[in-house]
Amino acid sequence: MRTKVAIIGGGPSGLLLSLLLHQAGIDNVVLERKTREVVLGRVRAGVLEEGVVALIGAAGASDLLRKHALRHDGTVIYDGTSAFRIDFAGISGQSVFVYGQQDLTRDLYDRHAEIGGQIIFNAENLAIHDAKSDSPFVTWTSEAQGAMQLRADFVAGCDGFHGVSRRTIPDTVRHEYEKVLPAAWLGVLSQTSPVHHELIYAASARGFALCSMRHHNLSRYYIQCVATDLAEDWSDEAFWSELKRRIPGEFAAKLVTGPSIEKSVVPLRAFVCEPMQWGRLFLCGDAAHIVPPTGAKGLNAAAADVADLSMALCQFYASGEQSGLEGYSATALARAWKIVRFSLWFTGLLHRFPGQSPFDLNLQRADLAQLRDHAAMQKIMSDSYVGFVR
Ligand SMILES: Cc1cc2nc3c(=O)[nH]c(=O)nc-3n(C[C@H](O)[C@H](O)[C@H](O)COP(=O)(O)OP(=O)(O)OC[C@H]3O[C@@H](n4cnc5c(N)ncnc54)[C@H](O)[C@@H]3O)c2cc1C
Repeated sequence: MRTKVAIIGGGPSGLLLSLLLHQAGIDNVVLERKTREVVLGRVRAGVLEEGVVALIGAAGASDLLRKHALRHDGTVIYDGTSAFRIDFAGISGQSVFVYGQQDLTRDLYDRHAEIGGQIIFNAENLAIHDAKSDSPFVTWTSEAQGAMQLRADFVAGCDGFHGVSRRTIPDTVRHEYEKVLPAAWLGVLSQTSPVHHELIYAASARGFALCSMRHHNLSRYYIQCVATDLAEDWSDEAFWSELKRRIPGEFAAKLVTGPSIEKSVVPLRAFVCEPMQWGRLFLCGDAAHIVPPTGAKGLNAAAADVADLSMALCQFYASGEQSGLEGYSATALARAWKIVRFSLWFTGLLHRFPGQSPFDLNLQRADLAQLRDHAAMQKIMSDSYVGFVR
């Protein structure tokens, strides 16, 4: 088998890249380790930047998103005693769109099937070879067909944090930076109407809480928990009771609770791998960087890489111009570090961590007051929240 771009991983990054390349007539094949059902079953992210929505439109997959996504022009921040609003539309002239990663992934898969794109599922033991040469190739095994091989001009590593692409870059070249925070999020999905039409980020004395949603009758709530907690340690009742104690009283009073239809623990950590290119292998999304979920940047950061890489590949195939490919890693890493900075700052602003001294807590309060009272702080926060994809 031969193709122009071998895409490792059929998550949102891989599918979006595949569609954008198909739009430009660039042949590609997606190789996914799991089944379609497993990929489509992942709940995860839910807030998209305006630039990402435009990118999904360019990939031909935004019809349902434009119909059903909830446009949010701002967000509520609770500092433990009072709540204030950041007006994204007024400050930054942009909004964000609430649309679940599950729905987005389904739309990308449906569009991919419509245009006859090729995805190989259950690709096991995948390995990338000769990435430093002009003719890299990928091998894998499949239960039905045995040992397989795909030659390509380029390999795009879109296989998430646990994939093989990043580890193909030799240890002598690869630098990994990681910060693990001593807390996690416990998330609950419930078929209830959201407590508010915008997200509420709450910095309570009992720890962080987030009131989010997927659509009008599907709410997503999170509370900060201990990093070692398991989802099964928390009954629904315990979750709702703790959430109510962390959000403003007016919202707690009208919170509609119900049985959880999904409950999971998300670790809080930041990770960056440098470089994001090695020879003809290019990393995108979670394969190269992870951010704590505060600020909803994970999926948006992945889409930003895909935007750059697809543009660079289109440029190369249209004219032989290589500058986009050569500059990919530096551009993507500069953005990734800004996204890490924002996500860690926003996390630090809103969480309580073990060992925080009264001094630390006073600084945190001052930081929150500055965000509440100063237009310049709101501008930085708002611009970062609405987007790194323009
Ligand atoms: C539990 C969890 C909760 C999250 N919650 C949020 C959130 O609330 N908000 C937010 O913004 N972001 C969140 N994120 C982050 C967001 O989901 C990711 O940033 C996004 O999924 C990145 O997409 P991706 O395609 O780069 O990687 P992934 O979604 O990880 O997709 C990678 C794909 O590659 C496949 N793969 C892996 N290894 C191989 C291999 N060897 N061969 C072939 N295929 C392989 C995987 O099966 C997967 O389908 C969360 C992430 C996790 C893990």
